[in-house]
Amino acid sequence: MEYQTTIGIEVHCELKTNTKMFSSAKNGYGTTANSYVNIIDLGYPGALPIINKGAIELALRAALVLNCEINKKMHFDRKNYFYPDLPKGYQITQARTPIGIHGYVEIDTPNGKKKIGIHDIHIEEDTAKSIHTAESSLLDFNRAGVPLIEIVTEPDMNTKEEAMAYVEKLRELLLYANISDCKIEEGSMRCDVNVSISKTEKLGTRAEIKNIGSISNIGLAIQKEVERQQEIYENGGTIQEETRRFDEKKGKTVLMRVKETGNDYRYFPEPDIPYVVLTEEEIESVKRMIPILPNVRRDFYKAHGMSDINSDKLIQNRPLSDYLLKAKENLDYVIASNLLLGDISAYLNKEHKEIEETMLTIEKFESLVDKLASKEITSKIEKEILVDLLEKPMSVEEALKEHHLTLVNDTKVLEEIVTNIIKQNQESVQDYKNGKDRALKYLMGQIMKETKGTANPVLVNELLIHLLNEE
Ligand code: ADP
Ligand code: MG
Repeated sequence: MEYQTTIGIEVHCELKTNTKMFSSAKNGYGTTANSYVNIIDLGYPGALPIINKGAIELALRAALVLNCEINKKMHFDRKNYFYPDLPKGYQITQARTPIGIHGYVEIDTPNGKKKIGIHDIHIEEDTAKSIHTAESSLLDFNRAGVPLIEIVTEPDMNTKEEAMAYVEKLRELLLYANISDCKIEEGSMRCDVNVSISKTEKLGTRAEIKNIGSISNIGLAIQKEVERQQEIYENGGTIQEETRRFDEKKGKTVLMRVKETGNDYRYFPEPDIPYVVLTEEEIESVKRMIPILPNVRRDFYKAHGMSDINSDKLIQNRPLSDYLLKAKENLDYVIASNLLLGDISAYLNKEHKEIEETMLTIEKFESLVDKLASKEITSKIEKEILVDLLEKPMSVEEALKEHHLTLVNDTKVLEEIVTNIIKQNQESVQDYKNGKDRALKYLMGQIMKETKGTANPVLVNELLIHLLNEE
């Protein structure tokens, strides 16, 4: 029998609040070290914590997004340990009454959808950041007391692909719900991955790989860890519960310490913070604040004929996806997505702009898409007027006039041109009569060339077929 791999993941995310979890110091990243600090973050004796309501609301939002049952009466606990980044000697966390329990996240696997159980999601405070140099160790307390949520899965994943899909899905959800900015590189999202292998129903002893720096490294670390454990078992050894880290340069996991257990932390209820009680109304009002999530957008896109590729690309581009939310329901979403992801994205990237910073209001965009859909304009014309639409407050009609691109809709004028082209291309006319479809395309091309792309293609097509059949 093969070894079965089992994976459970703990993710820490910093919440996007203005201030810290229990103090009024600013919650911010990337400023001078130790500038966003007050006496609570430094653990001064007698300094008392005050709960940040905004943090509770964001954590509640996360619990709802992850389909959790909500603990309506919560308290906080002290997790005691000594480390220089924790001057109080304990971290305030929720050990016994996590804000959410029994949730799930749905991921796509080669065998269909799979629900990854969320054991719990709890609120805690971040510690200071230690920076180790060759000469000394430095501490930055800007991070101390920043509100975190920790999201703990059930041991429900069995492959590295599932683990990566889970973290990607979680990240997408937390980003869209505006809960965290989820930057793994900057540490606002940190992933600890627990891995075990076993040949029986009983799960094997796990190793926990701490703080893996990217989603692709999560896959790599799992693969290397499984190989390490297999080798130990094959050689008759046993696995001990360990905390390890992934060494990117060595391409393997390395031992940090033998694992501490819950008892080592001597958890007990935090006496300085009162109970938090959430009412049904509060929960409902937080629910109403949740932006439209990726799954709902994906379903809408699919129902409107958009390809999976375009749908994924739009979801990855939040500003464009939000922009499209404002469009009318009966838009041609295939054309709209091609336009947004093609010509418009190319312009935005080149100019380093966001769509909302341009002059392309959603009404103008709709009118452009409608004209493309009804073939009133060609994509060649769209390309010619697009920059003006993005940079000037002019309507699509005004832009067409300005560029002398108003489509020739006059049947008389068009008839003359089509007749001429037929006269000049008798060979193609014969080909057409002999059933060669390409000939029609060729003649169409000649007409477009003659009119510099300004002829209404629908009219031309009708006229051409009509006149050819009269020949
Ligand atoms: P701790 O807080 O000490 O890390 P937990 O019991 O809270 O321990 O578990 C942490 C994570 O480890 C969870 O995501 C859980 O699903 C996962 N886990 C538990 N047992 C195993 C196992 N045998 N193999 C893989 N993952 C496991
Ligand atoms: Mg852990």
